[in-house]
Amino acid sequence: MIVSLCKRRGFIFQSSEIYGGLASTWDYGPLGAELKRNLKEAWWRSNVFERDDVEGLDASILMHPSVWMASGHVSSFEDTLVDCKSCNKRFKIEHIPSNKKCPECGGQITEARQFNLMLKTHLGPVEESGSLTYLRPETAQGIFVNFQNVVNSMRKRVPFGIAQIGKSFRNEVTTGNFTFRSREFEQMEIEFFVKPGTDEEWYRRWVDERFNWYLKLGIKKENLNKREHEKTELAHYAKACTDIEYRFPFGWSELEGIANRTDFDLKQHMKLSGQNLEYFDDETKERYLPYVIEPSGGIDRSILAFLVDSYREEKVKDDKRVVLGLNKSLAPLKAAVLPLLRNRPEIVKLAKEITNDLKKNFKAMYDDTASIGRLYRRQDEIGTPYCITVDVDSLSDSKVTVRDRDTMVQERVDVAKIKEYMVEKLKS
Ligand code: ATP
Repeated sequence: MIVSLCKRRGFIFQSSEIYGGLASTWDYGPLGAELKRNLKEAWWRSNVFERDDVEGLDASILMHPSVWMASGHVSSFEDTLVDCKSCNKRFKIEHIPSNKKCPECGGQITEARQFNLMLKTHLGPVEESGSLTYLRPETAQGIFVNFQNVVNSMRKRVPFGIAQIGKSFRNEVTTGNFTFRSREFEQMEIEFFVKPGTDEEWYRRWVDERFNWYLKLGIKKENLNKREHEKTELAHYAKACTDIEYRFPFGWSELEGIANRTDFDLKQHMKLSGQNLEYFDDETKERYLPYVIEPSGGIDRSILAFLVDSYREEKVKDDKRVVLGLNKSLAPLKAAVLPLLRNRPEIVKLAKEITNDLKKNFKAMYDDTASIGRLYRRQDEIGTPYCITVDVDSLSDSKVTVRDRDTMVQERVDVAKIKEYMVEKLKS
């Protein structure tokens, strides 16, 4: 349902579709691009603008190859894979049931093999080992290597965090489930540096903080879960980790992970770079390597969760309507201006004037390509919170009808006040 809506309405397309597509890579269409921008904006606003203990960063995707030696990704960023001898499907070892049979067809499986998930590339004209580097598999390392730069340039004191949104790449082998596991995706990550000993308290705080962020943006509570990792599941750098899971149509799966990365990364970078990355607390005169709490979420997985969660079908009299009940701040379009009669030039003119004025504040569109009923349905389906209709009466009383997406309640509003009214409504 969601996959077809995404394509039909311009949210998400398969990458290189005219060539048959490229596995596990996706393109965001006109509405998807708006939704993505809005989601990033919401994350940045609540984590960078509204906090005074987090600063932003935008590091490059390409990094010195030693970074990936230090981080442990060259030696241990691996999946253990098995293949089914009957249906030839490939699975991660952790998805194989205890009977050691294929989870899909029950067939016999092969021996396990290790597979490094980093995508390799060569810099410069010669493809030799010296020019080998990787496309980053996480944005976090760009933050660690800039830790001292941010401390010094912004005069930050621990505890504080560095936030970053950006592309990451993983050569995932077990793919599928739409955008959930892509080879190119975007992450929204914070590395929050704390004094050792205070790490467990900060870890708990961030788990709650991030869980509540999804709720505040409208994800239904019954579809969100916290799952603390068993010691045996932890990544090579982590002391503790909690996944925020969403109830996707294919089952509970990770939306975001909050990990206590200890001082693993800074220590490793200190070792391999030979630079002292210790923090000096000029009040207590202590020198130490901070511990790091990392909330690491995926933009693409969040978008999928918000789409799935907000999708609903409703009966309206004898008709059906599909609604994307997206939070207003995430909705790709905030308002659609619709002329009731498209063959009346004065109505069209007024509707276009209103649209152009609204566009100065937010994304709005003019549409006269169908009857009003169809236009409403179309906007409901893409989650537009308000439709503004200009009719014959508007020409004499200078009022327009504003229709609410969720309640379908209609209200007459003065044309002169419409922008102010909308700005107020969109805040709520
Ligand atoms: P999984 O076990 O599902 O592969 P992970 O534990 O490897 O995920 P992390 O390394 O914790 O994921 O990455 C942090 C976040 O980045 C994840 O919670 C997810 O939202 C996102 N992410 C990771 N891999 C992908 C991917 N291949 N496609 C889309 N998003 C991803």
